[in-house]
Amino acid sequence: MKSRESGNAEPSSASPRFSVAVLQAENRRLREQLDALIAEARLNQDKLRRFDQLERKVIAAPSLAALVHTLLVDYPALFELDAVTLALVDPEYEAARVFAEGGVALPAQLLLLPSEQPLQQLYADSVGPRLGPPGVAQAFLFEGLPSVPASAALLPLVHRGACIGSLNLCSRDLARFAAGSSTDFLERLAALVAVCLDSALATERLKLAGLTDGLTGVHNRRYFESRCLEEVQAARRSGLPLVCLLLDVDHFKRINDSHGHPAGDAVLRYVARLIRAQLRGSDGVARYGGEEFVLLLPGTPLPAALETAERIRRVIAAQTMPVQLAEPLRITVSIGAAALRPGDDPAALAADLVQRADQALYAAKQGGRNRVQAAA
Ligand code: GH3
Ligand code: MG
Ligand code: MG
Repeated sequence: MKSRESGNAEPSSASPRFSVAVLQAENRRLREQLDALIAEARLNQDKLRRFDQLERKVIAAPSLAALVHTLLVDYPALFELDAVTLALVDPEYEAARVFAEGGVALPAQLLLLPSEQPLQQLYADSVGPRLGPPGVAQAFLFEGLPSVPASAALLPLVHRGACIGSLNLCSRDLARFAAGSSTDFLERLAALVAVCLDSALATERLKLAGLTDGLTGVHNRRYFESRCLEEVQAARRSGLPLVCLLLDVDHFKRINDSHGHPAGDAVLRYVARLIRAQLRGSDGVARYGGEEFVLLLPGTPLPAALETAERIRRVIAAQTMPVQLAEPLRITVSIGAAALRPGDDPAALAADLVQRADQALYAAKQGGRNRVQAAA
């Protein structure tokens, strides 16, 4: 049996175990391993720095549109992705409305889903990210792109136990998102994005509530006042016409008196819906007070605005109100119209516009109601 000392004895140059060549090879292998580890650490550090940058942008986004922009535009640029798409569950069309109200076109990479169901199916077997080449069942997430990516990371956005959306990272490189890769960073990002999206939507909801009439869902007078001033300024810059219509329900007091206040409320909601259905996206409608609605038609000459007003009057007069009564309830409206006059002071011009529409409305009432009257 060999003693320990004999084992530590000076190796003979013939022993392959201790040959210089073997030691050098071992050394090289260790150095390569170390280099690889350092390179990986550098990559991770760089990745962490970029994630940190992205997370700060996500947290600091001042609105839903800005947050969506960060995800769809800044994210792919920062991480050399070919695209990012976002599917959002939007059953009440809230997000759609936020974009419409803000005058921001819906980005092609943003998909608003009327229900949670497609995402429930997608993430049925696991709530974690899904990496790999997208299958046919996932193609709907990439509708806004020219083609389905070669590989993708699909991140479920879960907030308070509900799947509120899916953030989808796309690459032309098949190897970029391989099944089984580590997803720690992505999971953390998805959790943050879900919280920020929920909070951005809640903020937008509050903003909208402050500018919306609770009964009819159209804008309130406060919104109208500021929108009217904006439209007057825009019309003065562009030289395009601007028309204001003031609409009042005829003998509305009788409806309340005969059928009760709730029936009156139902009529107001229905009238608001009928008005909205007759307008273009760029037109604005608000409840001016009681049973009066005010409409702004930018870029519309007075004759065309009078046609729109006449169409609204006719549609309302032809409808039976959706109120459960012994006999069908029909109503009529009177409408006054005024076009913006030339002038310098936008606030004075806006006030004059509404005042002349009101005078025209009064004339329509005096003239027998159920009619449209242009301002003198
Ligand atoms: P006119 O044809 O001259 O406009 O007659 P009118 O009866 O429509 O006008 P009036 O101004 O005399 O009455 C308006 C009524 O609208 C009185 C008010 O009680 C009612 N009203 C105002 N706001 C609401 C509301 O939010 N809900 C209901 N149900 N009624 C309302
Ligand atoms: Mg009135
Ligand atoms: Mg009235």
